[in-house]
Amino acid sequence: MSSERVEVKEKVLSANDQVAAENRALLAAHGIYSVNMISSPGSGKTTLLERTVDLLKPSLRLGVVAGDVQTRNDAERLERHGIPVEAIETGGGCHLDARQVARTLALLDLPSTDLLFIENVGNLVCPSSFDLGESEKIVLMSVTEGEDKPLKYPAAFRRARICVITKVDLVPHLDFSTERAVDNARSVNPDLRFFFTSSYSGEGLEEWGGWLGERVEEYRRGR
Ligand code: MG
Ligand code: ZN
Repeated sequence: MSSERVEVKEKVLSANDQVAAENRALLAAHGIYSVNMISSPGSGKTTLLERTVDLLKPSLRLGVVAGDVQTRNDAERLERHGIPVEAIETGGGCHLDARQVARTLALLDLPSTDLLFIENVGNLVCPSSFDLGESEKIVLMSVTEGEDKPLKYPAAFRRARICVITKVDLVPHLDFSTERAVDNARSVNPDLRFFFTSSYSGEGLEEWGGWLGERVEEYRRGR
């Protein structure tokens, strides 16, 4: 990259960081724990969210911001689970930015929200560079992807604290070594914590949902 391009990129990111800090303060003021879910397209973010919403809905007040380049399809799928959902159609943009999230926060009933899911645009590259003001970045990786994804897209795995491996019910049919994928991810970020889930069989969902519930409690206590 030329030095001029680096400079422009830094300016864009620092403007974004300012809005992200405002989002973070607003969410904190309402005691809302929020997660920014990052992955390649097709890794199963929306399906995992549908299952997670069903699991947590009885005990927590949930909200979703669903980002996509085009269509409101994912937002509509999630709306059917009876929770507030706001869609962001980026119209070509390959990531969500803090300003877009700020606009949707204004539309949500924040005093009635405990946990906010932000489903980022399916893309493992730039979403990890744009802070949205979330409490936690979560990177997803499905077993139908290459085990070397963490090595090819290290930033997403480095900036997340949690990695959810999805579609684990398919492992018997694939030449995918979960162990190798975990080793690759740990080589990029030794502190990553993993959840192994299948939205199809339900494997690992209780553990994942339980962890989210604990984080909401912890977040509230820490305020
Ligand atoms: Mg989706
Ligand atoms: Zn992008």
